[in-house]
Amino acid sequence: MKNITVHDKAFKPYLQKEAIQARILELAAEIDKDYQDKQPLFLAILNGSFIFAADLFKHITIEAEISFIKLASYKGTSSSGNVITAIGLEENLRDRHIILLEDIIDTGKTLHSFLPELIQRQPASIKIATFLTKPEALQYPITADYVGFNIPDKFVLGYGLDYDGLGRNLPELFILDEVAS
Ligand code: 5GP
Ligand code: MG
Repeated sequence: MKNITVHDKAFKPYLQKEAIQARILELAAEIDKDYQDKQPLFLAILNGSFIFAADLFKHITIEAEISFIKLASYKGTSSSGNVITAIGLEENLRDRHIILLEDIIDTGKTLHSFLPELIQRQPASIKIATFLTKPEALQYPITADYVGFNIPDKFVLGYGLDYDGLGRNLPELFILDEVAS
């Protein structure tokens, strides 16, 4: 794997595609085991999670459904500031076992603001599966149940994650090369 430049920034290889695929097989096996007979509904949060969601879902062998949502933020009336709502969520979530699919949990703000809206729909359970987490950057009480990789607090791209629109199609994960940028 070579270093790459996207827009104005330099990135170096961080995770090879083989390592990513191997970890996804492990996560799928874990979810298969935990959700036997529960017919979970995966909710993939667009855009970033679409590649992770596709690769993970291919390896799920139990009965399961998947749907894709976009999150939009609007000014809430409470002191908590912005509220995040789901666009494209047509399923009835009542009594369903939900597995949220995210590309990355950074500060945790997005999921922290979205969970109340999800809870309102009265699912049987909610778990979070994320391709990446940045433990050092976390600022909200969000814990992922299934984590692909914990990474340092640096900007990454590839495997669905973009830098200003570019880089989502890279099959590997790249990390900002601060020395070269
Ligand atoms: P949070 O709300 O947890 O702070 O941020 C989550 C969102 O920020 C992710 O869904 C992603 O869109 C974006 N994000 C956070 N860190 C990175 C990163 O290193 N690279 C890219 N491409 N996006 C990131
Ligand atoms: Mg995102």
